[in-house]
Amino acid sequence: MIELIDVQKSFGQNHVVRGFTARVDKGEVVCIIGPSGSGKSTILRCMNGLESYDAGTITVEGLTVDRTKRTIQAIRQQVSMVFQRFNLFPHRTALENVIEGPIFVKGEAPQAAAERGRALLARVGLADKEAAYPAQLSGGQQQRVAIARALAMQPKAILFDEPTSALDPELVGEVLSVMRSLADEGLTMVVVTHEMGFAREVADRVIFIDGGVIVEQGPAEDVLGSPKEARTQDFLRRVL
Ligand code: ADP
Ligand code: MG
Repeated sequence: MIELIDVQKSFGQNHVVRGFTARVDKGEVVCIIGPSGSGKSTILRCMNGLESYDAGTITVEGLTVDRTKRTIQAIRQQVSMVFQRFNLFPHRTALENVIEGPIFVKGEAPQAAAERGRALLARVGLADKEAAYPAQLSGGQQQRVAIARALAMQPKAILFDEPTSALDPELVGEVLSVMRSLADEGLTMVVVTHEMGFAREVADRVIFIDGGVIVEQGPAEDVLGSPKEARTQDFLRRVL
């Protein structure tokens, strides 16, 4: 579904992504782990056209991700993103946040969008919060609204960039549990995370990156359970 071949990206002199080759198959959960500053967010942002890349190719369902407006619009409809900071519209209710994209980007009828939006809020455990504003919700609830909003676009895949890193520890579990249920339902997901327990349990494959290169990738039990590379071993020792 998503294929990256030898992707390169620099910010000025800073060569941030140095030849990234990986693929994400339909229904797969791929976790990307690695130290801060290793290029995880950049590679994720390249995958849905939020960031340009300098060389290599990225395709989503056969469509090459480039910077033309048309491609970017198409990709954004197919690949949603959930950010570390929930990025909800503060002056819109939970339901309004969820149905904004379907109505204004996809041209869905408001009534139908609201109906679907309510079902999505229920799916993330927030059936009773449709009228709440973001400030009235906990971080965990806001992030679950953000996940419902991503789902509302009926994407083929969702990219998560450290979705629990900004949460108080007691709120992490509720978000991970929603993500786990989406994985069980077969949603294609790419998850940048420091939650090694989640990665070990849910990921089909884990990619460890350091300094903009893939050091090691493979089944979660291999990369996390018996990593081959010294750099992976070292990283895991520090985070576990
Ligand atoms: P990670 O998500 O793994 O922490 P990032 O992809 O955010 O890493 O960043 C990788 C490197 O790219 C860092 O050195 C960061 O400072 C740099 N970087 C990221 N985004 C930008 C940007 N928009 N402009 C300049 N440098 C950036
Ligand atoms: Mg990041």
